[in-house]
Amino acid sequence: MKEKKTNEVYYEGRITGAFGAGYMVTTDDGRVFRCRTFPGTQSGNPESSLAAVGDQVEVQVTLSGTDALEGIIMQVQPRRSALIRKRDPRRNRSREKQQVIAANIELLVPVVSAYEPPLTTRLIDRYLVFAESEQLPVLLVVNKMDLDDGVEVRKLMQVYHDLGYRICYVSIYRQSGIDELIEALGGRISAFSGHSGVGKSTIINLLTGVRLKTSRTSWKSGKGVHTTSNATMLPLPAGGYVIDTPGIREFSLADITRENLRFYFREFLQVMPECGFSSCTHTVEPDCAVRKAVGNGVIDAGRYESYLALFYALDDER
Ligand code: GDP
Ligand code: ZN
Repeated sequence: MKEKKTNEVYYEGRITGAFGAGYMVTTDDGRVFRCRTFPGTQSGNPESSLAAVGDQVEVQVTLSGTDALEGIIMQVQPRRSALIRKRDPRRNRSREKQQVIAANIELLVPVVSAYEPPLTTRLIDRYLVFAESEQLPVLLVVNKMDLDDGVEVRKLMQVYHDLGYRICYVSIYRQSGIDELIEALGGRISAFSGHSGVGKSTIINLLTGVRLKTSRTSWKSGKGVHTTSNATMLPLPAGGYVIDTPGIREFSLADITRENLRFYFREFLQVMPECGFSSCTHTVEPDCAVRKAVGNGVIDAGRYESYLALFYALDDER
């Protein structure tokens, strides 16, 4: 906090909630202000959304009495990472092509469930490609372990364990795996994402002690608001934050192409240099070391199928 004029106080803080045009900013010492941007707000990210949950900001608060709660966002610091979704510029007021869902994420947490909805590795692979392309660390969470004896699910997940991805098996109903999950989050800013129904809200409620459904309520009206920019960042008692984000199908995969997809399957990297062609796409080329590795079981066939599915889907998604 630094003082400029007598009644203007400046705080450093983080955007912990976005509600349409308003933002909630939490300072390092735990004060919470309702803030707005203004035409003079300085941006460290000129090509992108002005402000998003997770952004580090400087706010100006005009003290008018002892309990000033409103502020103006003066400056948004450059982002270290961002989850972005594509938008149709004709369908939003600011004509944005891209919208930052959450900024400065330190850990991506795809959540799947053992059953209901059933576990699909195709979806996990999509998350992993995204995380690798953004160089984001990943923690895989498998919830609802109470609905299954766990044998099949652990067999399906073994490939990710072997690839070095950390996995937490949890059951909120049985309260199992929770301590390990908290430890694995490690005080970082985590973005939870997954199919609806896998138990994300239930997990986040348990971890934070906040009822997610009600925390998404707009301050002014007291009613829930449903603009696409809504995201809430909730503090964890042991340090760090969790952010509930939309599913991966809404994340922009703009930087992933048929040409670079192969670099985001980590097990391909070791064998790729042995391919006959340096530009090998590992699809139809002869003398392909990746396909050979799939044939002799060194590379998991399911992972390779995910690669092919993504490879052929990529052009269609553009
Ligand atoms: P979200 O859409 O991912 O946020 O999922 P919810 O948190 O709304 O949960 C979807 C359903 O799964 C709810 O009926 C929860 O009660 C249920 N659920 C959550 N965790 C568990 C669990 O560990 N075991 C079982 N059997 N059901 C769970
Ligand atoms: Zn190849």
